[in-house]
Amino acid sequence: MTKKIAILPGDYIGLEVMAEAVKVLDVLRAEGEALEYEFGLLGGAAVDAEGHPYPESTQKLARAADAILLGAVGGPKYDELPRELRPERGLLGIRKDLGLFANFRPALAYAELAAASSLKPEIIAGLDLLILRELTGDIYFGQPRGRRTNAEGVEEGYDTMHYSRTEVERIARLGFEAARKRSKKLCSVDKENVLETSRLWREVVIEVGKGYPDVELSHMYVDNAAMQLIRRPRQFDVIVTGNIFGDILSDEASMLGGSIGMLPSASLDVNGKGMYEPIHGSAPDIAGQNKANPLATILSVGMMFKYSFDRGDIADRIDAAVKGVLRAGHRTGDIAQPGEKIIGTREMGDAVVAALQR
Ligand code: NAD
Repeated sequence: MTKKIAILPGDYIGLEVMAEAVKVLDVLRAEGEALEYEFGLLGGAAVDAEGHPYPESTQKLARAADAILLGAVGGPKYDELPRELRPERGLLGIRKDLGLFANFRPALAYAELAAASSLKPEIIAGLDLLILRELTGDIYFGQPRGRRTNAEGVEEGYDTMHYSRTEVERIARLGFEAARKRSKKLCSVDKENVLETSRLWREVVIEVGKGYPDVELSHMYVDNAAMQLIRRPRQFDVIVTGNIFGDILSDEASMLGGSIGMLPSASLDVNGKGMYEPIHGSAPDIAGQNKANPLATILSVGMMFKYSFDRGDIADRIDAAVKGVLRAGHRTGDIAQPGEKIIGTREMGDAVVAALQR
């Protein structure tokens, strides 16, 4: 069956890194993989062309696709737009529309890039962890929220942290499944000592865990997890956590490996349909200069094959090609050490394509 991919390059460097990911898809298609792709607009580009960050044309395209590949959205040109037209509303809109509730963020330390990490090489050598973040619940979406004036006449802002049993069950199950495919260790991160939401979270995770006796479950408070990620990150394999804790911890973990230009991510719905994107933003500071690292987007293509198309073999090939180009010494500016030769976005894409065809 032909796989339909919706390609949404987005804004600024989104366009440049996506062009390289498409080169990789072209190679696979030329080899005989049944792939069909169609381009659409999201974020600022969509506001420019159609007056909305997640316009109807993109909604149709995304809903009909088997998977979505996204570059990055946003940038200074769109900073003054009203809230509902801001590019990030497009991102939240597509996640909500497609019910993408599970966000997978691997953090990997490539041996070749050990010097790019802000941690000592011996602490991150061999690091390979996966953070699974719930994406559609928690304090980011809980009601009520708002601003008010309290009884003393002082202005307040308030939000509601909220998780239902069903929401925790489905993300916990994915966490156990992911751990089962890796080293069978799952760490659930919460703030159970303080928050009611976390108390329910922990109870439900433990219950779900009874169905996975082969997976070793541990629990950690989020403040300790933030510390342990820097102190001894290799103690973790799979971390499962809620939306706000996951937001912060996954950004922290992304720095362990050295550059956000290297890290892909996946956001899945209940059926395994997913949106795949680099974790970085649209990097307006380097846009249009052939400087962006396209590897995170190329690795996102690999995740797409693994998670949505059940083709771990292709994901492994893409991962191996990326490792190969790093081993051969190819570096974009963000991952180069002083004195190392720097190549551009297009040249890095070409190097991966050449490695894939070898
Ligand atoms: P950013 O990730 O775009 O950039 C942070 C820094 O990292 C910059 O110095 C940038 O040059 C560098 N960088 C990022 N990606 C790189 C790559 N592939 N190769 C080399 N260097 C890279 O974050 P920001 O500057 O805070 O945000 C810029 C814009 O992107 C904002 O409008 C923000 O809202 C948006 N943003 C979008 C997403 C997304 O689409 N998922 C995520 C984060 C930020």
